[in-house]
Amino acid sequence: MTERKTREVRIGNVSIGAGNPIAVQSMTATRTQDIDATVRQVELLEQAGADIIRIAIDTAKDVVALSEVRKARADANLVIDLQENYRLAERVAPFVQKLRYNPGHLHHIEREKPIRDKVRYLVDVARDHGCAMRIGVNCGSVDPEKLSRYAKNDSITPMVESALEHAAMLDDLGFDQYCVSLKDSDPNKVIDANVLFTESRPDVPLHLGVTEAGMPPDGVIKTRVAFEQLITRGIGDTIRVSLTLPFERKGEEVTVGRQILDDIANKRFRSVPRFEQHGLNIISCPSCSRVENEAFIDLAQNVRDMTDYAKEHDITIAVMGCRVNGPGETDDADLGMWCAPSFVNLKRGPQTLGQFTYDEILGRLRLELDKLIEEKGASSF
Ligand code: SF4
Repeated sequence: MTERKTREVRIGNVSIGAGNPIAVQSMTATRTQDIDATVRQVELLEQAGADIIRIAIDTAKDVVALSEVRKARADANLVIDLQENYRLAERVAPFVQKLRYNPGHLHHIEREKPIRDKVRYLVDVARDHGCAMRIGVNCGSVDPEKLSRYAKNDSITPMVESALEHAAMLDDLGFDQYCVSLKDSDPNKVIDANVLFTESRPDVPLHLGVTEAGMPPDGVIKTRVAFEQLITRGIGDTIRVSLTLPFERKGEEVTVGRQILDDIANKRFRSVPRFEQHGLNIISCPSCSRVENEAFIDLAQNVRDMTDYAKEHDITIAVMGCRVNGPGETDDADLGMWCAPSFVNLKRGPQTLGQFTYDEILGRLRLELDKLIEEKGASSF
């Protein structure tokens, strides 16, 4: 194992970096405004041993709900996930220990305002309320300005450049209580992006995760591979295992994360030096409060069951829960779906094929999958 000491960042009563134990995080998947369900899920994640729990916030009503969750779970270390509406930061900061923002979402509102000014605002809010921050870069929503500078097949450099740029902005503002994440659904890209970032910024604590890893056991395997390869190099200060699971099993994200950490610490490795994905690859998001229809979890499981006949073909199918990340994060899949309240959008690569009801979608997916297998003369082995 390589030793690597990043600087220390405090998140409530947990510290990451600087040789502290790797903290395990998870995220609520309930609608934030369903206060009872969200409180129950925070409780469940705490009982499973989560050090830090993330909640997504999109609206003013979510902020009100968050304040109630905070009252009910006074001791939890809470993080909020800001999406387009970064201005909600000042309203949520009093209730949480950490703010996560995605550099790729900052251009959505107040387009004329320089990104640097938006980051300064976020830092001021974090500083005023004693919050840590995470610069969370995601493969499906990378800053378009960074993407435009690199070849289409290079998804890693724009992610790393974006993270480095924002880390430098926070440094310039004299704020050091931040960590960085670079997430992709491909564990190899997670490994490459984090290694590359660390070469430039070995001091910055990293939050590791394979996004949209999917359902167990495949989602666990993908995550394990990335964590084994990174943590043995001394990279990673906090982790989240993203799994598509029914609400009542969400605690498995934490227990699986702890199991992987324990195995790595005891040199029980499962991965070969490089993870090569062969056969059918199903990517699905872990769902969160933004999920448009709770039928999403069943849909993801039904897609896996229905497509079992194609398991030897090198095809990627993505199933995503909402319009926030669904459209972008299905672009690289051969077939992609993202959920709306009463229908599912179906795509083939970046091209939209149409909208289908929850009853129709599996049949249509099967047709498209058969067509794809035939066209590709898809490689089986
Ligand atoms: S795709 Fe949407 S529902 Fe799924 S985890 Fe991401 S934000 Fe949440």
